[in-house]
Formats: sequence, C-alpha cells, structure tokens
Amino acid sequence: MAAVHPKLIESLVDQTPRAMIAMLIVSSAYFGIFIKFVPLIVLIVWFVFQILLAVYRYYNAMMFKTYLAQRTPEKIEQNEVYFMLSNVFQAGMWTISSVLSIVYAPQPYELVSLILTIGIITAAALSMSSLYKAYLVFFFSMIIPQIIIMICYAEHQHIGLVVLIFIYIPATILLSRAIYNSRLSSIEAHDELEKSVDELHRLSIMDNLTNIYNRRYFFEMSNKLIATAAREKKAVSLLMLDIDFFKQVNDSYGHQAGDFILVELVKEIETMTRKSDVFARIGGEEFTILLNNTSLKGAQVIAEKMRIKIENKVFSYNNASIDITISIGISELTAVNTSIEDLYKQADKQLYSAKNNGRNRVSVAVISA
Ligand code: GH3
Ligand code: MG
Ligand code: MG
Repeated sequence: MAAVHPKLIESLVDQTPRAMIAMLIVSSAYFGIFIKFVPLIVLIVWFVFQILLAVYRYYNAMMFKTYLAQRTPEKIEQNEVYFMLSNVFQAGMWTISSVLSIVYAPQPYELVSLILTIGIITAAALSMSSLYKAYLVFFFSMIIPQIIIMICYAEHQHIGLVVLIFIYIPATILLSRAIYNSRLSSIEAHDELEKSVDELHRLSIMDNLTNIYNRRYFFEMSNKLIATAAREKKAVSLLMLDIDFFKQVNDSYGHQAGDFILVELVKEIETMTRKSDVFARIGGEEFTILLNNTSLKGAQVIAEKMRIKIENKVFSYNNASIDITISIGISELTAVNTSIEDLYKQADKQLYSAKNNGRNRVSVAVISA
C-alpha cells in the first residue's frame, strides 16, 4: 500500500468521533423505526454490535494518532488494513439491517434501509475521503449488497431505484475523489508554505557562504545567552577571529580561492566548538565565537588551539597549497563588560592588538585585580 500523507490520516482521525456519533444516531433511528417489526432481541444484538464497532473505530483512530506520533509507517499501514476491515464489517451490519427489514417489515419499508445506506455513504464521503481507498472499499461493500437485494427483491417500482443507484455510484465516487484531491493539494500547499517559511528563517539567520550564523543572529542570540549567564552567574567569553593578510590570498590566488578558504576554515573551527557556543561570520573574514560556561583562561586555551590548528593546516585549492594564519582577540563577561556590545568592543580591541603585535597570535585583555 502506498504511504498516505500523515496529515490526511490526521484529518481522518479528527473526523472519526463525529462520524461515529452520526453512525450511532442513524442506528438509533433504524432501531426506532423497526422496533415494531423486527424481534427486539435481534435488534438489540444488532445495536450492540453497532456500539462495539463505534468503540473499535474510535480505538482504531486513537491508534492512528499514536503511530503517527511514533512515526512507525508499518504500524500505520497495518492500522489502515484494520480500518478497512472494520468498515467492511460496518457495511455488513447495514446489509443485515436491510435483510432484517425485508424479512420482518412490510413493503415499502425496505426502502428505508436503502435510503439510510445512501445517506451513510454520502456522509462517509466527507468523513472518509482522506483515506480514499478505504472509502471505496466501504462504498462498494455498502452498495453492492443493496443492488443485489433490490434486484432479488425487485418489484418493478424498485428497478427504478437500482437505475438511480447506478447513476449515484459514479457521482459519489467522483465527489469523494474531488474531496480527496482538494484535501491533499491544500495539505501539500501548506507543506510548501511551511518549507518556504523555514527556508526564509534559515536564510535570515545564516551566512550563505559558510553556513554558520550571520551577524544579526549572532547579536540577537548573544544578548539572550548573556542575560541567562548573568542571571546564573556563569562565565561567558568571546573570541574574535580575523584571517591575517587575507587580501593577499585573494590577490595571489583569486577571490574563489579566498571563498574556498573561508568555507574550509569554518569547517576546521567548527570541529573545535561545542553545541552551546555561538559561532558566526560577522564580516568578510571576521568571525566571532561566544563561548558559554567558559572563563577568559579557558577561552585562551581554546583560542590557542584554534590558532595552531589553522597555522598547521595547508589549504589545497586547485593545485595551490595555501598557508594562512589567524589572529584572535578575547574578552570576558565581567562587572564592567556586561553586554554583548561591551564584549565585542573589548575583543575587537584585543584583536587589533594581536594584529599590531605581529599577527598569528591570541590577545587577551589584562584584567586588573
Ligand atoms: P589583516 O591581517 O590586517 O587582517 O589583513 P587583511 O588583508 O586580512 O585585512 P583587510 O581587512 O585589509 O582585508 C580583508 C579582505 O578580505 C578584503 C577582502 O578582499 C577579503 N574578503 C572579505 N570578504 C570576502 C569574501 O567573502 N570572500 C573573499 N574571497 N574575500 C573576502
Ligand atoms: Mg584580515
Ligand atoms: Mg578584517
């Protein structure tokens, strides 16, 4: 069986309680109409089965919900089979009701069953079309016995009804197919929209080239993290990285080689960051890393490791081997540096000092005691 879109199953699950209540109301109506003809015990047994079926259908819908949440396609498919079988059983119950009315009630009471059947399958087109195949199974399990009954029991006025049923069959199947298609296309349109929103959000927070956070998101995120860290009195440090003489790389090897190095450098640095760190590209060849739960000393160790790693790495682009180095400035959240802007200003100052002192080095603010 081809996998049904989970949202179509969700819509079927949503409709099930209403459909079950409607089914019990129709069953009660049948009970009320035929109580004077059909033996009470037979009617009661029939009605109890209808209730049990309604309970089972509700349980089946809840199972769909559970399996959807667990994302277990095999179990969902198995539940679809049970759903279809319960519908065939349900159709069997209505066939029995027709037979009962023919056996026990005078003419033209058998028409009541036929009208109920047509009413039920029309209403089911609304509640069941999400699982189109199941609807078809239910439809034919309901209508074929009615045709057989009508033909076998036919008085000439009933033959007209059989003809009517044959007109009704394609019309209702087309209606159900149209409902199915419109539900599916609105679900697909909704999925597309969700995907576009996700993509737009991703684009708004990520840097296109290196696929790490962009400047805007870095400041937004850092503000939140710093507020939490200040409340919990946890250490936070900021690294500011800048590639040394990057202009020369572009001039010597071309802008594309420069882009390649930016991407590869990010991959290298990323292996040394933790999930809780915020790594962002804040400018052309400038990067920041907000280190959570990390003091200035810890940040210095990490920065030094990064610097050495990049110093030792040879970037191969086409046939060229390119060596680069980075300079890093570090600052820490303190009683004075209380905002991301303060941290950024201090780290930038340290970066400037690392550059002035010869580059390929880490510079940390001297903390006054
Ligand atoms: P310094 O050691 O002082 O940092 O020298 P530098 O050459 O790295 O510094 P500068 O700020 O003068 O130059 C940065 C260069 O980075 C300029 C620009 O050509 C290059 N750059 C900025 N963004 C990109 C980019 O997206 N791709 C490439 N390929 N190059 C970029
Ligand atoms: Mg630079
Ligand atoms: Mg720069």
